[in-house]
Amino acid sequence: MARIIQDHKGCIGCGSCAIVCPKFWEMGDDMKAHPKQGKKNPEGDYEFEVSEKDVGCNKEAAEACPAQVIRIL
Ligand code: SF4
Repeated sequence: MARIIQDHKGCIGCGSCAIVCPKFWEMGDDMKAHPKQGKKNPEGDYEFEVSEKDVGCNKEAAEACPAQVIRIL
């Protein structure tokens, strides 16, 4: 398993994550991206877990993010 965290406030809404990894990321009404299965933690960041086989596309999203707000732990 891998934990994925998005600093939602830091998202600039470029849409790259939703393009390279649409299974896990989508754009919201606030014009920022959020993970489809994520929950917000008390700090306002989104968090979710994926199995090893699904890390790849999320890694691409993290690498494509110009604001560098997607972290994989
Ligand atoms: S790639 Fe980064 S900045 Fe662009 S929409 Fe996704 S989270 Fe936001």
